[in-house]
Amino acid sequence: MSELTDTIPPSNQISNTEEMLLVAGPCSAESREQLLSTALELQPLSVSYFRAGLWKPRTRPGSFEGVGEKGLPWLLEVREKTGLRVMTEVSLPDHVEAVQRAGLDALWVGARTVSDPFAVQNLADALSGSSLPLFIKNPISPDLDLWIGAIERFMRAGITTIGAIFRGFSPCYSSKLGYRNTPSWSIAFELKRLFPKLPIICDPSHITGRRRDIEEFCTMAVELGFDGIMVETHIHPEDAKSDANQQVTPFELKEILGKMELLKRNATGLVPTEMEAYRKLLSEIDDTLLSVLARRMEVSHEIGLYKQSHQIPILQMEYFSEVLAKNLRRAEALNLPQDFVYHLYTDIHELSTKIQFESSGIIDPKKSKS
Ligand code: PEP
Ligand code: MN
Repeated sequence: MSELTDTIPPSNQISNTEEMLLVAGPCSAESREQLLSTALELQPLSVSYFRAGLWKPRTRPGSFEGVGEKGLPWLLEVREKTGLRVMTEVSLPDHVEAVQRAGLDALWVGARTVSDPFAVQNLADALSGSSLPLFIKNPISPDLDLWIGAIERFMRAGITTIGAIFRGFSPCYSSKLGYRNTPSWSIAFELKRLFPKLPIICDPSHITGRRRDIEEFCTMAVELGFDGIMVETHIHPEDAKSDANQQVTPFELKEILGKMELLKRNATGLVPTEMEAYRKLLSEIDDTLLSVLARRMEVSHEIGLYKQSHQIPILQMEYFSEVLAKNLRRAEALNLPQDFVYHLYTDIHELSTKIQFESSGIIDPKKSKS
């Protein structure tokens, strides 16, 4: 992991209240009527920004690619009629130019664009010195450095107001969670740990890909201390030209917000004494866990020496398959999730293999320290 310092200036104020940010609006702008009718129903919901994509970077060709510049006056009309601040996604310098000319209130950069450093740099150059609030989505792969790299490029270009959006990661085929994107929350937590002053909002629509899961993820976003949520909202979600399955109506969004009392966050930061006891207990368990893991790796070291002196190859695939299967059965009996134990054991095996390479003298431990 590269060395990083929190370079977000304290003046970075994407929101000037303590309340959570609420970004709502359709995936794509489709018509003037669709935008206006959605926005008018959203108006009473304390929406911080009304979103609508004008240029849609689609994964596959042949899907709806957005109405482009034609939608800019519609967004301006939304602002004029509802007072909502309006934002859209930019992927190319031309988009930046058009949005600045029209005078929109904020921008976001999508996951596909953030995944390409040249594209990000071109946008950063086009936005140079801009005071427009800019939201940067995470890249499509779970690569924290790529996300941070994009944030740094925009900061270096003098963009003064930056937020991040967490929308999960393209799943590999083995994902069993069933969401459109795999959340991998730890990447968002790590970004927050490294950049405590950077507001991060959660995008349950793109994570789940499913209307019925959005409420649950909005609640999780509050519990996990996100600074806001982005929920795709459409006047007739089932007829939407993009992401029809993951949009809710303004009425449904109101219900979700009502249930969660989303905008009332307990921000006292006080930890009750009972919590201290739980934390102590967890800390003792962690101590045991790590000691046991360290002991396991000592045994790996000894096996490495033994294999070396008896000319036995390091990888014993059949044996590893048995170990994995046995531990997956244990996991089931202990009520631990199979995919978690699978990943845990493949990671343990990876490290054990490395230690055996070191103890058998095949790799130099000094060189392999990372
Ligand atoms: C969007 O917000 O409509 C969008 C395209 O999202 P993402 O870049 O997260 O896929
Ligand atoms: Mn979308």
